Amino acid sequence: MSFEQLGLTEKLLQAVADQGYQTPTPVQQQAIPVILAGRDVMAGAQTGTGKTAGFTLPLLQRLDAQTAQHHKRPPIRALILTPTRELALQVSESVRIYGKHLTLHAEAIYGGVSISEQIRKLRKGCDIVVATPGRLLDHVLQKNIDLSTVDILVLDEADRMLDMGFMPDLRRIISYLPKKRQNLMFSATYSNEIKSLAATVLTDAVEIAVARQNATADNIAERVYGISKEHKRELLSYLIGSNNWKQVLVFVRTKHGADRLEKQLIQDGIRAAALHGDKTQGARVKALDYFKTGKVAVLVATDIAARGLDIDQLPHVINYDLPQVAEDYIHRIGRTGRAGLNGEALSLVCPEEAWQLADIEKLLKREIPRVADTGYEPVSLKVAHAPKKLTPNKNTGKKDFRHHKKSGSKPAAKPANNRRGSSKTR
Ligand code: AMP
Repeated sequence: MSFEQLGLTEKLLQAVADQGYQTPTPVQQQAIPVILAGRDVMAGAQTGTGKTAGFTLPLLQRLDAQTAQHHKRPPIRALILTPTRELALQVSESVRIYGKHLTLHAEAIYGGVSISEQIRKLRKGCDIVVATPGRLLDHVLQKNIDLSTVDILVLDEADRMLDMGFMPDLRRIISYLPKKRQNLMFSATYSNEIKSLAATVLTDAVEIAVARQNATADNIAERVYGISKEHKRELLSYLIGSNNWKQVLVFVRTKHGADRLEKQLIQDGIRAAALHGDKTQGARVKALDYFKTGKVAVLVATDIAARGLDIDQLPHVINYDLPQVAEDYIHRIGRTGRAGLNGEALSLVCPEEAWQLADIEKLLKREIPRVADTGYEPVSLKVAHAPKKLTPNKNTGKKDFRHHKKSGSKPAAKPANNRRGSSKTR
């Protein structure tokens, strides 16, 4: 199937050709005609499937068709909600790229930056707003923005918005929208909460599922390295250095852990930068820019900070810590193997994380292949006994894996061969 067969206008086809896309991805093939026909959509599409163009192209076409007279101050006709500022920026950039032959105007609205500049931009008017829920709600409550003219609502990465606790904000935002509108919802996973959100937001939606539910892309080679906690850093430096990897996204659990690992990698002679929520917007943009342009080879990121990163052809993702929530494994490794390219996703798993690994494999309904010889003393990743029922963490209110600490085997002994020596010679 070609883009021409999807019913897109010449200007949009031109923008697609400018991007060098040859054929529409499966989500684009299914979503574009349905959205053009004005239907609501519920798409189970993970990141990397081309979902952004899947909703942006038909959305632009529908708005463009209705732009008959020139508005001095255009009313907002499309609202795209995203979980993070990175994703908001990335989607608004996609709107700019795909809409470059049209006259529609988009603004990105997100927290962590001055609100007054956003107020100024909103006063000028725009056709499309791409926003994170919290900051958008601030503008709504301050009456800086009028959502009563919105024709199309997009909830991008809806599962992540719910994970981040945006449900109340979403409900409030939706109450300011006109009842009659087109709704497009994209989510990598289907929880009961997602289904109930879909039931309240969507009307007679066409369901699109492009990847198997809770499955990861087939073109991503996944492997688990069983390794003791104290040797993880050494193994990481060794893998990156000995393979001469130039672009590696490394996931860690905490902001502090990201900063620490960044320093340690730099000490090992590896160019690295950390990306997490405590960094200023400027520092985050800079770290991402350095990573994209190859000034640093390794980006050490927390889950939330990495959400929405769009780095073309990212070849390697490494889970330095396994995620707290099993679904995040799918989000994380979806950073590689994008748009049909091959990718590699490695997980360095210590015995203390055996439960997290078991949870991930239960979700995936398959075992992730283990590396037989890691070069270190083997450790067992078998789960010894059933976990205690998870209770919410006192500080975060979220269920976590604290109770699983004693699981797995006893700590590993010294490495079988000394990789520290070999990494020093690099
Ligand atoms: P997304 O799933 O929207 O985050 O898109 C993933 C990546 O695929 C982005 O880098 C897009 O530029 C790219 N992409 C989107 N559509 C296509 C296509 N039809 N052919 C090739 N690459 C594409």
